[in-house]
Amino acid sequence: MVFAKNMTLLKRVVFWVLAISFVMFIVLAYIGFEIRDTIRHNGLVRVQNLLEHKLQTIDTYIEQRYAALEGLKHLVRFASRHHRVFEESFWRHSPELMEADLSYFAAQNGFYDLFIVTLNGDIIHSVKKESDLHTNLLDGTYRDTELARVVTNALVNGGSYISDFSHYAPSGDYAAFVAEPVFSNGEMIGVVAAQIDNKILQSVIDDASELGKTGEVIAAVVRNGKVLTMAPVRNTRIKAFERLDYNQMTPILESAGGGEGLQYMHDRAGHNAAVAWAYQEDLRWGIVISINENELLSEWYQRITSMALLFLIGVGVVVGMIIVAFRSFAQPIEELTQYALMMSHGNYKVRINSEQYDSEWQVLTRVFQQMAADIKDKMDQLNEQNRLLAMHKGEIEELNQKLETKIKIKSQKMKEYINVIDQYVIASQTDHNGIITYASDAFCRISGYTKEELIGKNHRIIRHPDMPAAFFDDLWQTISAGRTWHGEIKNLKSDGGYYWVDTTISPDMAQGKIIGYTAVRYDITDKKTIEELAITDSMTGLYNRRHYVKIIDEEMNRAKRHGTTLALMMVDVDYFKRYNDTYGHQAGDGILQQVSDVLKSYTSRSGDYAFRLGGEEFGIVISNMSAEEYLTLGNRICRAVEKLGLAHEHNDASPYVTISMGIAIYYPESGMSCEELYKEADTQLYRAKKQGRNRVAIK
Ligand code: GH3
Ligand code: MG
Ligand code: MG
Repeated sequence: MVFAKNMTLLKRVVFWVLAISFVMFIVLAYIGFEIRDTIRHNGLVRVQNLLEHKLQTIDTYIEQRYAALEGLKHLVRFASRHHRVFEESFWRHSPELMEADLSYFAAQNGFYDLFIVTLNGDIIHSVKKESDLHTNLLDGTYRDTELARVVTNALVNGGSYISDFSHYAPSGDYAAFVAEPVFSNGEMIGVVAAQIDNKILQSVIDDASELGKTGEVIAAVVRNGKVLTMAPVRNTRIKAFERLDYNQMTPILESAGGGEGLQYMHDRAGHNAAVAWAYQEDLRWGIVISINENELLSEWYQRITSMALLFLIGVGVVVGMIIVAFRSFAQPIEELTQYALMMSHGNYKVRINSEQYDSEWQVLTRVFQQMAADIKDKMDQLNEQNRLLAMHKGEIEELNQKLETKIKIKSQKMKEYINVIDQYVIASQTDHNGIITYASDAFCRISGYTKEELIGKNHRIIRHPDMPAAFFDDLWQTISAGRTWHGEIKNLKSDGGYYWVDTTISPDMAQGKIIGYTAVRYDITDKKTIEELAITDSMTGLYNRRHYVKIIDEEMNRAKRHGTTLALMMVDVDYFKRYNDTYGHQAGDGILQQVSDVLKSYTSRSGDYAFRLGGEEFGIVISNMSAEEYLTLGNRICRAVEKLGLAHEHNDASPYVTISMGIAIYYPESGMSCEELYKEADTQLYRAKKQGRNRVAIK
């Protein structure tokens, strides 16, 4: 039940009790109506039984009357043997005994009157001795009465029957008659007739036992289409023997017409009634018995009302008990809920009197109380802090204001600095893999790249091929170890040109890990150009002699440090004087340049150098090889020069321009000096010349 979810527990329990009660009520109502049907059926049975009893009683009564009449007949026939009972003279003389007999007989057998009638139809005696009875029934005053009819039937047909109950003038009452012919020795000698004492019959019909308050009995005959009621009982407005025109009274009509029936139907007052009806043949009466349904059901009504009342009281008591029981443990919950609500609205001064509850509730309420107290303490502290805060709010705001202004100014300055840095400092940042993440404007300007071209690329794109790989190995080793590197780097421009920068690279750290690198540089291209000019031979582009003096010292020290070898290869062009003489001095300069290019191409490794030592003499400094390797390299260089195929017709060693080479090797352990090395190379060169030129000489 969806709506039941919104109810409180108590309401839900009461709801279910009421729902179950409702179902029980329906069941009880059903049973009640079943009982009602049974009672109605029993009502029909009851009227039916009553009717049968009445019919039985009437039958018995009539049988008794006929039997009595038979007795009268015997009495009269017996008397007629000795007395002329059917002669008037008999009754004029001494009939006392006979009269007494008849009178006794009538009283004993429920007859109101007895008549002795002659074969002529004269009434010669009646027990009641009504004077005007001395008349002839066939043609006298009473020839149309019921008495005349039964007597005539007895005289003519020799039979007997009970007449209809109708008005009888002599008695002034309603009466029925019965007559019987009296035979003696096979001959009819007269007729005895009797007026039935209808009071007895009336009492049978009137018997109201078991009829209850509303039960009624109606006996009726139908004559000439009219209903003539015979014996109305209480509660009817029909007068006895009233001629009725109740054509609508189906049971009366049906029963009087010989039919019978049993059913519930509306009576004349509109009440429903159980009705039974049947026909009494001897009297030609229809007899109807009815009892109002309300009366039949009155007990049922009472019981059903008290049952419903008891049921409702029961439900009420159960609901009441549930409510009372519920209250006993729902009250603490309700109160706690109430207090919780109060707390949720900010009232933390909740105090509960737990004494009134059971022990379990007391524990709960105490815990709740403690909780409320804790919350109150915390709230008090908070409020105090808030109060202090509010007090210092002005000061704090003022400080904030000042701080904000300061930050603003600083930020502005910072922005300006950043702008300046961006504009004038050649700066860049990479991630830990060397991918560029930031490039300043100055960096873009000097490198010739746009920011878009740089960011996301590896820093390698600005590496110049002149810078030896070992140089960068050293650089990476330093910065990846978390140290700052400083040095001069020749970088490649986007257009293939170069520039020199004095560079400082520092690792960017976060949580003890390197997350990238920042490089800050300044342009030293001009300084570098001047420096290069000072150590470069302008004609050949090789290093000059001055630089040789510096380098040979450094390289020999390095070899000493590392324990490696070093070779000085001294080169001289063969018969160059002759060349000049033959091809001119300018062409000679050209030869010097081409030879220089060959020497350059064989000294591209870092730590290899080629110098113009003077005139047409060159020096090569190479490191870290064996003697054989130096010799092989020297020969290769000589061959490379000859292979240039530069015609030199006066070269005795070859048709082309050739060189001679003397190699001196420095072994660190030898302790040889620069001068000694130079001298040794010169000596070897001299040897090469001596041996025929276009060759290499080594010790
Ligand atoms: P070799 O060495 O084979 O014994 O014979 P050589 O003719 O080459 O003898 P040497 O080395 O003594 O000659 C040096 C010559 O080189 C002298 C000079 O004419 C020439 N020379 C020196 N410097 C230059 C220069 O800068 N340009 C030109 N064209 N010639 C130069
Ligand atoms: Mg020379
Ligand atoms: Mg020479």
